[in-house]
Amino acid sequence: WNRLKEGMSRTRNNLGGRLRALFHGKEWDDNLWEELEEILYEADLGVDTIEYLTAALREAVRTRRPRHADDVMDLLREIMVDLFDVPSDPSLLDPQRPSIWLMVGVNGTGKTTTAGKFAALMKRQGYQVILGAADTFRAAAVEQLQEWGVRSGVEVVRQAPGADSAAVAYDTVQAAIARSKDLAIIDTAGRLHNKTNLMQELQKVVRVIQRERPQAPHQVWLVIDATTGQNGLAQAQVFLEAVKVTGIVLTKLDGTAKGGIALSIKRQLGLPIRFVGVGEKVEDLLPFDADSYVRAILG
Ligand code: GDP
Repeated sequence: WNRLKEGMSRTRNNLGGRLRALFHGKEWDDNLWEELEEILYEADLGVDTIEYLTAALREAVRTRRPRHADDVMDLLREIMVDLFDVPSDPSLLDPQRPSIWLMVGVNGTGKTTTAGKFAALMKRQGYQVILGAADTFRAAAVEQLQEWGVRSGVEVVRQAPGADSAAVAYDTVQAAIARSKDLAIIDTAGRLHNKTNLMQELQKVVRVIQRERPQAPHQVWLVIDATTGQNGLAQAQVFLEAVKVTGIVLTKLDGTAKGGIALSIKRQLGLPIRFVGVGEKVEDLLPFDADSYVRAILG
């Protein structure tokens, strides 16, 4: 919680601080609602989410008649928490072994870093983990993943730079089966400049995994960089078309005043945020909790 609170200070100043100032000593008139929309707009929440939040708060104020600014903040907090609609059964590992996870997302969002953090996290919980460096397009990604593997004592399956991504994915699954691992985490490339190639490559990765394990991948994590705001959400749509994404990891919440973007994700992408990244270190991957998040942004 402290890491989240610390990491989200810029968003808290931008969003929570301004909202608090707005509700203190203001008349409930149209100006206030316009200013509220303006603040949410500047936090890059997207028109649909802004309209929803404003309408919901207006209705709550009308029916529940809060007397103080703090009461309004409480109402807003409730409305925001409901927006996340977090799944009630957040189990991560499929009973089938090995569980196979795929990391997808635009390059630079933090896929490789998150794969490394996941490996360390699951290893710490006592699971046998293996990593697959199938982001073969970016040579540095393979090295980066290797470093994460060394640091957390997790084996990394790799091939020469430029190798076929699907071949690395296949090798990883085979190695995971042969060595009785609990979990295989496979990194992938996210070059957006050629959307058709990207989709075909990802679909091929999924196909070769399913040759060994028809039910897999058990989790497909779509990694989104919070600093990219609405633009990042638009880019993320490409991945939803290509593969069956199961959950979102929202990274770089520590580097941005745009952390409010989390509020838009469920409505816009139809998927829950399951983890957030608040830094580059291994301990900076946190399970997402709507209450803590809303407290961290509203203060
Ligand atoms: P990929 O291309 O999607 O695999 O992205 P990388 O994993 O290489 O990450 C790109 C950069 O973002 C690296 O410098 C990471 O250290 C950094 N990064 C990843 N996640 C976070 C995060 O949660 N917070 C911060 N501040 N940086 C992050």
